[in-house]
Amino acid sequence: MYDLILPYLPIFIFLLGACVGSFLNVCIYRIPEERSLMGPRSHCRCGKPITWYDNIPLISWFILRGKARCCKKPFPFRYFVVEALTGVLFLLCWVLLSPVHAWVGMVFMAILIASTFIDLDHMIIPDRFTIGGMVLGVVLSGMFPAMHLDTLSGVFLLDSVHAVLVSLLGAFVGSGMILWLALITEAVLNKDAMGFGDVKLMGAIGAFCGWQGSFFALFGGACCGTLIIATVMLGQALGLRLSMKAIKETPRKKTKDVSDNLEWGSSVPFGPWLALGAALYWLFFRVETLQFLSSIEVVFTQ
Ligand SMILES: [Zn+2]
Repeated sequence: MYDLILPYLPIFIFLLGACVGSFLNVCIYRIPEERSLMGPRSHCRCGKPITWYDNIPLISWFILRGKARCCKKPFPFRYFVVEALTGVLFLLCWVLLSPVHAWVGMVFMAILIASTFIDLDHMIIPDRFTIGGMVLGVVLSGMFPAMHLDTLSGVFLLDSVHAVLVSLLGAFVGSGMILWLALITEAVLNKDAMGFGDVKLMGAIGAFCGWQGSFFALFGGACCGTLIIATVMLGQALGLRLSMKAIKETPRKKTKDVSDNLEWGSSVPFGPWLALGAALYWLFFRVETLQFLSSIEVVFTQ
């Protein structure tokens, strides 16, 4: 029976991701406005409720060609992007990682995606993702010590306590590192460089990834961010009309004025880059980073 299902499991995992992505869209849209996730049901922008068959992740978007059935107003492409992205990340977790890292990874990816898009829209990251993520990271570490430990002792309680300590250290180092970075940048630039939401997000990243992972997320994320922003700005300078509209949905209630065009000195949310760094670490660089850092340790102790 299992042999029959096995070849289709990746498809199932991708679809699971798309459904979770669909729910994340609701979270991203409603949580910053402090509306309930349970009800009312999803409505079109014209006010009509959306039927279940027009609300199937990914598929409905294709069938309706991105336009609402009722009033033909275009759906934000962003909804499709979030569903597809969640599906792809879930699939990558499944294909690349051990079972524990795959399942925990899916939870972690969901937190990162929600944080990213809320930060893009509102320049805030709600506590239920940052502090909630931190608590969840510690709890999951206690339940699945293999998250942090390569070799288990065999005594569950011992491993569990060990993993929780690793997770707590990660949360502490992660948030501490970015706090210092923010303080230094503020002193140098003489303006607010980072929000406290980023500090708390780094706490969550550390709780899931350990201190090595939060190190990678911060510096890897900052490098990716600098590269991508520099490319976009270069493109704008060359006259390309690049805009963040594809990934950003204009919120009905803007908390801060966030321009679609990037300019020098304009505030760019930092959370998405941290999330990108964390996702890259979890999916591709965990083993490599651990080996690299332990090789440094060997050099120093010799
Ligand atoms: Zn409508």
